[in-house]
Amino acid sequence: MKNRLKDRIALVTGASSGIGESTALALAEQGAKVAIAARRQDRLEQLAAKLAELGAEPLVLVADLASEVEAQRIVKETEAHYGRLDILINNAGVMYLEPVAEADLGRWRRMLELNVLSLIASSQAALAGMRARREGHIVNIASVAGRVANPNAAAYAATKFGVVGFSESLRREVYKDNIRVSVIEPGMVDTELREHVGHEASRRAVNARAGEMRQLQAEDIADTILFCVTRPDYVCINEVLMRPTDQER
Ligand code: NDP
Repeated sequence: MKNRLKDRIALVTGASSGIGESTALALAEQGAKVAIAARRQDRLEQLAAKLAELGAEPLVLVADLASEVEAQRIVKETEAHYGRLDILINNAGVMYLEPVAEADLGRWRRMLELNVLSLIASSQAALAGMRARREGHIVNIASVAGRVANPNAAAYAATKFGVVGFSESLRREVYKDNIRVSVIEPGMVDTELREHVGHEASRRAVNARAGEMRQLQAEDIADTILFCVTRPDYVCINEVLMRPTDQER
């Protein structure tokens, strides 16, 4: 089925690779107009060319979303450009893994700011418009790490447990405004995420673990997001926990 999102306006953060890139394409294939945000302009421009071919009239937003001011700006620019924002996909994130005793707190602060504060800020910025129109959908990308806390992932788990908690609180604040909030919690997905882990031994360990299983693909998460945002508006998929079949915890 095509055109299930005809002329809907979406903003995808972290769209320059992985899950965000696949999600932007999946939304565009269903007729949405799509704004895309991240830091790497070259990757965003490459994606924008593909989105334009699909008729998605892309808006490229180069932004460092570790700043909550930037997270709010991209929402406002999307609304100014298209006239509104219907679907906000809060996907941008990093995963810095290291034992607590050795942790670089500056790095962890940046992760907390990007994975949690920025997602809160963009959600906040989108609310006024969504409330005024009495519709809108916010999809937050958490992780299995927001449900199961593993050693070496303490701060990453803190960010993703934070996203899960924030999403449920937000849903309960806005459901009466006909605004939907969904949180997606993927297990191991085959993307660039692990390349940026930082701490060498932790990077080796997580890559070894990934090598033991058939990982999810970014398109699998994009499909799930598409499912959530194409339900009739009385249906809100609150939470989706999805692992590779081969992943135990
Ligand atoms: P990628 O590394 O491929 O994508 C991460 C995206 O976030 C990129 O587009 C990157 O763009 C963007 N990003 C990173 N830092 C910033 C920043 N400071 N400002 C703006 N954008 C930024 O990994 P994934 O696709 O896997 O990750 C997407 C989300 O999925 C993350 O929230 C991650 O935690 C979550 N997730 C991933 C899993 C996995 O196994 N891969 C499992 C569960 C959840 P750029 O560098 O251009 O800024």
